[in-house]
Amino acid sequence: MVRGEQLSCPKCGGNLKRYDNVQRIVRTKGRSTERICIRRLRCIACGAVHRELPNFIYPYKQYEAEIIRGVLEGLITPDTLGYEDFPCEMTMMRWKAQKSHPL
Ligand SMILES: [Zn+2]
Repeated sequence: MVRGEQLSCPKCGGNLKRYDNVQRIVRTKGRSTERICIRRLRCIACGAVHRELPNFIYPYKQYEAEIIRGVLEGLITPDTLGYEDFPCEMTMMRWKAQKSHPL
């Protein structure tokens, strides 16, 4: 995951080129969902594909963005204290499935 206008590879520092776009659904605390478009960038040096987390998520959606990142990085599980009921386990499984099988 890379942020904003960061255009160097977090792995090797190589240059990133635009690769494609993927849609992610963000479930907000109000039980509504939002579709967001995330750019994927490919490193021209090592070939790694990184998702760019849009900056706009942070000012307004920090809570959700932090949770999504925590789940994807394995920091938050259904057993994590404080996150027992948000998001639900099925949502976490779906995020992880999407991570291992990119659209
Ligand atoms: Zn790289």
